[in-house]
Amino acid sequence: MEHIVIIGNGISGVTAARHIRKLSDKKITIVSAETDYFFSRTALMYVYMGHMKFEHTQPYENWFWKKNRIDLKKAYVRDIDVASKTLHFEEGENLRYDKLIIATGSKPNKFGWPGQDLDGVMGMYHKQDLDNLEKYAPNNNVCKRAVVVGGGLIGIELVEMLHSRHIPVTFLVREDSFWNGILPKEESAMINKEILSNNIDLRLGANLKEIKADENGKVKSIIIAETGEEISCDVVGLTAGVSPNIDFIKNSSIETGRGVKVNPFLETNIKDVYAIGDCAEQREGIDQRRPIEAVWYTGRMMGETVAQTICDNRKAYQPGPWFNSAKFIDIEYQTYGWVWAQKKDNEARFYWEHEGGKKCIHLNYDKNTREFLGINNFGIRMRHEFFDKVLNLKQSVDYVLEHLADANFDPEFYKLHEKEIVTKFNQENNTNIQLKKKSWKRIFQTS
Ligand SMILES: Cc1cc2nc3c(=O)[nH]c(=O)nc-3n(C[C@H](O)[C@H](O)[C@H](O)COP(=O)(O)OP(=O)(O)OC[C@H]3O[C@@H](n4cnc5c(N)ncnc54)[C@H](O)[C@@H]3O)c2cc1C
Repeated sequence: MEHIVIIGNGISGVTAARHIRKLSDKKITIVSAETDYFFSRTALMYVYMGHMKFEHTQPYENWFWKKNRIDLKKAYVRDIDVASKTLHFEEGENLRYDKLIIATGSKPNKFGWPGQDLDGVMGMYHKQDLDNLEKYAPNNNVCKRAVVVGGGLIGIELVEMLHSRHIPVTFLVREDSFWNGILPKEESAMINKEILSNNIDLRLGANLKEIKADENGKVKSIIIAETGEEISCDVVGLTAGVSPNIDFIKNSSIETGRGVKVNPFLETNIKDVYAIGDCAEQREGIDQRRPIEAVWYTGRMMGETVAQTICDNRKAYQPGPWFNSAKFIDIEYQTYGWVWAQKKDNEARFYWEHEGGKKCIHLNYDKNTREFLGINNFGIRMRHEFFDKVLNLKQSVDYVLEHLADANFDPEFYKLHEKEIVTKFNQENNTNIQLKKKSWKRIFQTS
């Protein structure tokens, strides 16, 4: 019987395994070094914040794997011999495969900072990072101050986690405004304010120079590169982005760039070897998407897609319009389509912010054709199905505004604000867009 081996028990690897099982009787083994069972990485923060126990982050009961004949092997893959189709484990054993799926995810970036491997210095990615955080930052007696280095989505989550235990936090952000490589300046400014209003010591335009140790090899302070300022701390969180966790593959003949290079079918340059999830790098651009996308749902989609190919229904990966969501302390964020940090030449923008300063929408559209290109929502939830459809059908910005009631997830909010939004747009653009009544059901049932 054909043996499918998957390295990595994250969302990508586990989704591939589940779908291969649905489609076939093949022998399946998942090898992973981190934990015995799959857990939801995106929920790690809630464990530290006391909203759930670690066991609750495991979507499947422990019996699920045996029942579905998915073998789990806890081991670290040291290297892959593609000629003999064999994995070599750090622990000394070997495992043969007929087809191999690499789904090894990401690892936190470390840029060679002096002191980056001291006790009390950690990323925020793996279960072990959570255990370390619990050890070095259980409360504000043990951890008098933490420094978080790197202002992205994981950085701000770590800030929120520490803040939830009343641990004072200094947040070093290299950019001159939070995440402004991704967010337009208005949204970025809103999040700066949100961070500061939670009494976080936000340092914009600040880089880490080095981390200093005490006499026991534990972190005692950091130095800021620009000013030379020394900040005493007990924990340093390194959250300056992630990169594909593929060092162990670099000596094999599997082609890598930043990630494992794949074609649209998620196939590598070596026959019967595939890569999916955070560690995969698309050779050919898909739409305007980045070649590596370290997000949950794309890992899941790639897992579903590769399962089809492995089960003799060769299928290209087609993720559809881009979307993403996150939370910046108390402000929820959703994005559908493209709203770049900097407006492109063919684009026009419309920005509306609620007077409370915690809610906004930012629309992006083509100024010549009026095609709707994307939206950022802060503090407001809108329907994914609506925007997926609108983007696929290349509807106009006027259509989106007319149908705000259909996009809206929270009727109460829109009762209050949709008129204000459309009026502002009409005033700024000399248009006469009229709000239509909610027709969500009709729209989605008839087409
Ligand atoms: C704190 C945090 C919050 C996040 N929040 C969001 C969010 O809100 N929304 C979102 O879309 N995304 C979020 N992400 C990103 C998302 O979690 C990842 O995109 C996703 O988990 C990647 O899944 P994966 O299956 O590709 O890899 P992973 O989940 O990284 O799984 C790979 C597994 O392979 C194992 N492995 C690696 N190398 C080897 C080896 N040589 N031998 C054996 N095992 C190996 C790893 O230890 C790991 O267990 C978040 C990530 C973090 C860290």
